[in-house]
Amino acid sequence: MKPTDSRIFGPVPSRRLGLSLGIDLVPFKTCTYDCIYCQVGRTTNKSLECKEFFPVEDILAQLKDKISLSSFDVITFSGSGEPTLYSKLDELVYEIRRLTDKKIALLTNGSLLWKEEVRKKVLDVDIILPTLTTVFEKTYKFIHRPHPKLNINKIIDGLIHLRNEYDGNIFLELFVLKDINDNKNELIPLKDVIDKIKPEKIQINTTVRPPSEKVAVPLSKEELERIRDFLGNKAEIIAYTPRISSKKLKEENRIKAILEMVKRRPVKDIDISNALGIDINEVRSIIKGLLIKGMITEYEHLDDTYYVSKEGQR
Ligand code: SF4
Repeated sequence: MKPTDSRIFGPVPSRRLGLSLGIDLVPFKTCTYDCIYCQVGRTTNKSLECKEFFPVEDILAQLKDKISLSSFDVITFSGSGEPTLYSKLDELVYEIRRLTDKKIALLTNGSLLWKEEVRKKVLDVDIILPTLTTVFEKTYKFIHRPHPKLNINKIIDGLIHLRNEYDGNIFLELFVLKDINDNKNELIPLKDVIDKIKPEKIQINTTVRPPSEKVAVPLSKEELERIRDFLGNKAEIIAYTPRISSKKLKEENRIKAILEMVKRRPVKDIDISNALGIDINEVRSIIKGLLIKGMITEYEHLDDTYYVSKEGQR
């Protein structure tokens, strides 16, 4: 791994987890899916093969440095692909526990949890945040464009098995798209399946950042509220601007921290300000400089301006 190729990013604001220090365990867009709503673009390496893409010891060395510099609530396996494709996830969790007592979370699309060996590797994280969108194969294929060896029955079985074996918290993400999986025919059987998975929380999401495909249209706040009410008291909406902890990032190099954020995903200036604890006017001034130097670009989506690095650009 090149010294500049940091697998650690953030801390970034997350409505689901607070201020999250991210670890990206797979190369850019290495995923089991190619979701139409993906905010980091089309999948370039669709695979089911688990590998140690980056050495555990390199990731730990980077994490050690970052932990000593940053203030955050949780360490999260996430990023620009599917983290359960990382073959040494269990070893990494074990080693991170020796470094810090912060909670560890796993953001996953849930597509490999039907494999017993993958489930065993995730049992020691504190919070697992898998995604579910439908119980129907046709809708599943349309939304996720999965690897050909995956199907929705496997995914649901995996999630139910996980619940039976895992003592931690499951925050199930229900990603809803306008005129695709937001109707009663979809949601009624989906609720039955969610009841079997018994997540601690159901976190309802929709497309709030520029998606891979224009067909991935978001639901309005009111529409999401109706779905939340239908799903009951474990359900909450996470699709809007994240609220974060007031803790401030203790980073000396603010430009570097901003560049790390925009490399991972498109962000608004307010996201950066909240995540890094930097005054919004200072963020805007730094962004202006980065735009002039051509280090980042900007674009409009749903009346908001997003910033992204050259690498993160589609
Ligand atoms: S949204 Fe997540 S699961 Fe879907 S393609 Fe993007 S990285 Fe993969």
